[in-house]
Amino acid sequence: MASPEVAYKLAERLEELLGVDAVRRDEPMAEHTTFRVGGPADVFVMPCDADSVAAALEACVDAGVPHFVLGCGSDLLVADEGYRGVIISLTEGLDELRVEGETLVCGAGATLKDASELAAECGLSGLEFACGIPGSIGGACFMNAGAYDGCIADVLDSVEVLDPSTGERSTLGVDELDLGYRHSRIADEGLVVLSASFALAPGDAAEIRAKMDDLTAQREAKQPLELASAGSTFKRPEGYFAGKLITDAGLKGYQVGGAAVSEKHAGFVVNLGDATAADVHAVIEHVQDEVERQFGVRLQPEVRFLG
Ligand SMILES: Cc1cc2nc3c(=O)[nH]c(=O)nc-3n(C[C@H](O)[C@H](O)[C@H](O)COP(=O)(O)OP(=O)(O)OC[C@H]3O[C@@H](n4cnc5c(N)ncnc54)[C@H](O)[C@@H]3O)c2cc1C
Repeated sequence: MASPEVAYKLAERLEELLGVDAVRRDEPMAEHTTFRVGGPADVFVMPCDADSVAAALEACVDAGVPHFVLGCGSDLLVADEGYRGVIISLTEGLDELRVEGETLVCGAGATLKDASELAAECGLSGLEFACGIPGSIGGACFMNAGAYDGCIADVLDSVEVLDPSTGERSTLGVDELDLGYRHSRIADEGLVVLSASFALAPGDAAEIRAKMDDLTAQREAKQPLELASAGSTFKRPEGYFAGKLITDAGLKGYQVGGAAVSEKHAGFVVNLGDATAADVHAVIEHVQDEVERQFGVRLQPEVRFLG
């Protein structure tokens, strides 16, 4: 693992490229993840536009310093030791949203919530499913995020991506992205999403709003939104539901330190207030082992581990 000094040295170059206000050292990642856990990142940068993202990535690649592109941190568990390298955070600068006819063009750092709100205001239908997913456009394309009756693949038209290994930018159509259940070519090839265009359909603004309100109410009724988490902790195993397997295994409420299986929805591991990443890991591993022992199914984490 690289020492912090390697990243600190690069921080000076990043300050020249992005400006001193866009670069922080020893940034607590607990403040940038919905789980509210995670130690310090050596360097944390907030590029203001796509060119600055490209410049930051190029500097990291040239210096051989590990880097990680961050959206809203709503699908992440960062280690208590933090991250040795550079976090490139897109939500501060790449949050532009623009409507062009029936197309919604979104910066990668814009939130799904803001995108779906703007679509609703403009009477454009298609993104209602996304209104309660607390992620960014870039993270949602990376994961092919989905909920209820929709997913990104249903409405995405194209993405502008950057390949950090070559510095090349290109526009890829939705058919070129190999989008599947929580899977994409973006993730496979380590591409960075800079922006995305969604092909929406004209609809009745009141009906769009009513559907969003209904989905929000369903979420509030079923999910432990009052506690910090990263949403569904495990992927849906084929032929099963993770939450039901965990409930049937008698694991609702199972707790290690400040982390526990939610009493409200067993598919969520929640932070009761003072959880460490180690606590969350311990709960995840116990759930995996116990569900496998009882039902022969090994649950795979949906949440991504960093550090
Ligand atoms: C309460 C709650 C409810 C949730 N409900 C749902 C749900 O219904 N459906 C669902 O699918 N998910 C759900 N999630 C999980 C999460 O919100 C989504 O997976 C979301 O798409 C993650 O986006 P993010 O910006 O937070 O990504 P992050 O957590 O910041 O990052 C996740 C991954 O995406 C990569 N990434 C982020 N931005 C980019 C980019 N611009 N280019 C390339 N890679 C990038 C990161 O490097 C990382 O590997 C929920 C989470 C919570 C906390």
